[in-house]
Amino acid sequence: MIRIGKPYIETKNKKAKCKCDLFFNNNKKTLWFEVDEKYSKYLCIERGDAYLIGILHYAMEKNEDILVDIPITEDLLYNIRNILVPSLSKYAKSLNNIKITAKTAKPLMLGSSIGTGCSCGVDSFSAIYNHINSEYPGLDLTHLCINNVGAFNESYSKYGVEKVKKERYEKTDEVAQYLNLDLIKTDSNYQEVIKENHYRTHTYSSVFAIYILQKLWKVYYYASSGYDYSHFNLIDNDKHASGYYELLSLQCFSIPGLKIYSEGGEKTRLDKTSEIAEFNAAQKYLHVCLNKSTNCNICSKCKRTLVTLDLLNKLDNFKEVFDIEYYKKNRLMYYKWLYKQHLKNDSMIEPVYQLLKLSKNEIKRELLLYKPFIFTKVKSYDLMKKVLPNSIKTKIKK
Ligand SMILES: [Zn+2]
Repeated sequence: MIRIGKPYIETKNKKAKCKCDLFFNNNKKTLWFEVDEKYSKYLCIERGDAYLIGILHYAMEKNEDILVDIPITEDLLYNIRNILVPSLSKYAKSLNNIKITAKTAKPLMLGSSIGTGCSCGVDSFSAIYNHINSEYPGLDLTHLCINNVGAFNESYSKYGVEKVKKERYEKTDEVAQYLNLDLIKTDSNYQEVIKENHYRTHTYSSVFAIYILQKLWKVYYYASSGYDYSHFNLIDNDKHASGYYELLSLQCFSIPGLKIYSEGGEKTRLDKTSEIAEFNAAQKYLHVCLNKSTNCNICSKCKRTLVTLDLLNKLDNFKEVFDIEYYKKNRLMYYKWLYKQHLKNDSMIEPVYQLLKLSKNEIKRELLLYKPFIFTKVKSYDLMKKVLPNSIKTKIKK
């Protein structure tokens, strides 16, 4: 059993911390979420919604029922109990149809702001680009957010998680100023209290952060993972990124007065890269790197973005954020990587590979020479993975 206590706010040194005691079979852990003091009035202590969402996937995985000491918004509890939990547990071996005990209350309906996360990646800039000065002024952004609920700890261990966090927060300040939008910088111990794989649960941790500021938001755009809606899937949902079923989860997490969009799911990552290629803010601040706080040019995300921009003929637009000269000198290496990803059935990169096939890019002829070698290497590795026992595979890896 996991019990969610009553949240409370502590203010110190111009920061406000919203705290909540969680009891894991009587083992108490305090989950906190911090904002600048000026946003403290938006921290929600009247409902347990944020904590229920934040703990939900973990509780289903550990087969722990949930008891909540404070009311849950009626619509949210209905959606989670009757739609989300039964749907997920039905198609995931490791997730259980747990029992949730809570009193209900009416939606707060207090929010009037419109926000999105500002990670400065392709999805993030696409979400921003589509919601500033749009033809729907009532749906345009009023705030950007940068949260620390798991994404930073996934990578950057070599460069230093804290160093990257500090440098990215500073850069995001510049982006918000450049776009003339308010930036809410938050911090949390979420990933220390609720230890889960970020890739498979990022929707829950991100929506936890949205709901903590439940009294601020009317609309929130959660930039999708770069897969379009055709990838929606519940089968084995415990083994894949939570982005695959956001059409369902974000629908369940939306309540009267707070709509959370699975933003950008009508587009592929290629579409979004094409969209932001002429966006000044993206040209100045795009950051996709898995290694450090600037773009390294060589990690898989940097490679994917560079080769996409090259095929779109937009490379030079991004000379402030990538080492374009290095790319041009090593172009073939990037295209060999693209072909390798195509052979590995990387569905995110496939539209880019198809673009290469259609293009008149001279690199195609050069790549032709290397294709048989790359093909043999990738396929023999696949075969080896299938036939070798796990013990030998581990030795090879070491
Ligand atoms: Zn990189």
